[in-house]
Amino acid sequence: MKAGKIKRLLLGSVFAIVIFGGVAFFILPPKGYIPVLMYHFVVPKAQVGSTSLDVSVENFSRQMWFLKTFGFRTISLDEYEAIKTGRTKAHGREVLITFDDGNETYIQYALPVLERYQINSANFLVWNFMVQKQYGSMSLEDAKRLSSHPLITFASHSLSHIPLADSPAEEVRTEIFESKAKLEEALGAKINYFCYPEGSHDERTIKMAEEAGYRLAFTTSRKQLQGRPGTLYSIVRIKVSPTQNLFVFWINVSGFTAWGKEIDSFFHQLTGQNYNGTLTPYKLNPKTS
Ligand SMILES: [Zn+2]
Repeated sequence: MKAGKIKRLLLGSVFAIVIFGGVAFFILPPKGYIPVLMYHFVVPKAQVGSTSLDVSVENFSRQMWFLKTFGFRTISLDEYEAIKTGRTKAHGREVLITFDDGNETYIQYALPVLERYQINSANFLVWNFMVQKQYGSMSLEDAKRLSSHPLITFASHSLSHIPLADSPAEEVRTEIFESKAKLEEALGAKINYFCYPEGSHDERTIKMAEEAGYRLAFTTSRKQLQGRPGTLYSIVRIKVSPTQNLFVFWINVSGFTAWGKEIDSFFHQLTGQNYNGTLTPYKLNPKTS
């Protein structure tokens, strides 16, 4: 092959990649697909690495800048719920940002960035961590002070952060019901959402979360579903990892990851791992009435 031809081929390929990449960038995510991002600790760069759940302030700022710059709507938990239950229509490019464990670093490092870009977020509080001031949790006073913050929705992450699927029924009930009651009393606000510690849940915990009056419940990664269908009480989230660059971040919010669901159900059908069907599967695009 002549050098000129190779050059033309190379240039052509680069051109095609730029065009297709550009188109994908602007048409994704598909309307109705709302990625739910999961953060834990936003910390200064030097502190990243003490857990696999750290994200540096620099990376976090860049990610929030990215969402604002490319027109993502960082909706509140209430709006997310309204869309997922079909009471409100999705406009497209929505994203939900969640934090687990009510850590102090949320107030110190994440909140200033969220305020700068006017970005909504939810934080799942662990009652005992807060009142006993354990594991760097924010205090109950902090939560009270921030509970009327227009960009924050507080929700429950149980009393003591035990994996619920492995715990006796009475304990599970206490963790799910009492955390809601205690938070509602202390913060003087309805607590409508729950997040399973370590994502650990099963049919029993799903039923209890619903019975307790939560409107949605969140798990962690897709593998926690263990072949069960996703429901409004087992919503999958995307972990933002410490080393994630902006390209991977875009892949995560773009809807490419939604394909994981299709691949999952294909393999579960293949292996005969079918669920008994007593749960109402989570619909990607509920009918708006
Ligand atoms: Zn947690």
